[in-house]
Amino acid sequence: MIPVVMPTYSRIDVVFERGEGCFLYDTTGRRFLDFTSGIAVNALGHAHPYLVEKLTEQAHKLWHTSNLFRVAGQEKLASRLRELTFADTMFFTNSGVEAWECGVKLVRKYHYETGHPEKTRFIVAGGNFHGRTMTAIAASGQDKMVKGFGPLLDAFDRVAYDNLNELRAAITPETAAILVEPILGEGGMRPASLDYLRALRAICDEYGLLLYFDEIQSGMGRSGKLFAHEWAGITPDVMCIAKGIGGGFPLGACLATEKAAQGMVAGTHGSTFGGNPLAMAVGNAVLDVMTQPGFLDNVIAKGALLQGKLEELVARHPTVLDSVRGKGLILGVKCVTPVGDLVTALRDNGMLVVSAADNVVRILPPLIVGEAEINEAVAILDRTCAALAA
Ligand SMILES: *Cc1c(COP(=O)(O)O)cnc(C)c1O
Repeated sequence: MIPVVMPTYSRIDVVFERGEGCFLYDTTGRRFLDFTSGIAVNALGHAHPYLVEKLTEQAHKLWHTSNLFRVAGQEKLASRLRELTFADTMFFTNSGVEAWECGVKLVRKYHYETGHPEKTRFIVAGGNFHGRTMTAIAASGQDKMVKGFGPLLDAFDRVAYDNLNELRAAITPETAAILVEPILGEGGMRPASLDYLRALRAICDEYGLLLYFDEIQSGMGRSGKLFAHEWAGITPDVMCIAKGIGGGFPLGACLATEKAAQGMVAGTHGSTFGGNPLAMAVGNAVLDVMTQPGFLDNVIAKGALLQGKLEELVARHPTVLDSVRGKGLILGVKCVTPVGDLVTALRDNGMLVVSAADNVVRILPPLIVGEAEINEAVAILDRTCAALAA
């Protein structure tokens, strides 16, 4: 008989009961060091007291009114993100893919409104991942995602990641935007070179294209900047965010400049739940914490500490680990042995990680991770790699 929950995931047979900071406890009372953070979602760890307080406070007042009315929390969060980013305006969603797809619509509308209705196509790069709607699977194009779901939207031209020659050659009169993850997440935790990101900006300006960054995984402090593209000193025209912004509450947003968003007038887009008061209370609370002086500096410091220790592990276990990649606390270790074996062995030893493409294990601790937890993670990794090598 088919499982009552549709079996679209190959789930691990663990049920968690509660979490606290960097730790999760399962229903048998077992404790796990969580270096997955719900795939970069629990940016402030589990049950952060301030987030709990703000969510509870809002829960006692108001949950939902719909977007028929002004929502104070949206206006507050949007104003704050406008101060902190390139964006002039934004649309709130319940998930990453909705935020991403809002950006796809916005890009097409921009060119339609500015006299270029022929510009409808997107250049995407590498093992890009944007979610699981029909449009998003078309953009990723991976066999396991798309097989059997066609016909798909034909609007995406894929080139190699971090490769300008291929990208330039792919531009046609129909190209509307270049759509890139500044740090490739699912595709293998690969940061693009900063020169590449700068060149994308220049190319978009030269050809009249919009630059669209998917920072759903790389954003919200992960890289040590609020958004990873900031390292390159350039700005996109459109950006989708999600994951960390809700700290575990479903929340995403599509941010854009006024120019790029000019076609998104009343009636062009909408969502019943998007930006509801509960989500906005949490989003504002996450931002309260992340904008505290020193928060991002601490991500950079802890990232450097962890990265250094991971490099040492690679040197010590060359038959298991190959190399370290990433930035801040969005790190990956490319494995020699099958990454799935390492993920399972680490879990058996009390540490949770998730794999990415390219035989990479993702290292995504909560951004509040401390030195003690980093040392514990490194000790578990050391022990596990030694056992795998034997
Ligand atoms: C997770 C992710 C998405 C999709 O987010 P959902 O909330 O699962 O829809 C899109 N883009 C990137 C880069 C992601 O990491």
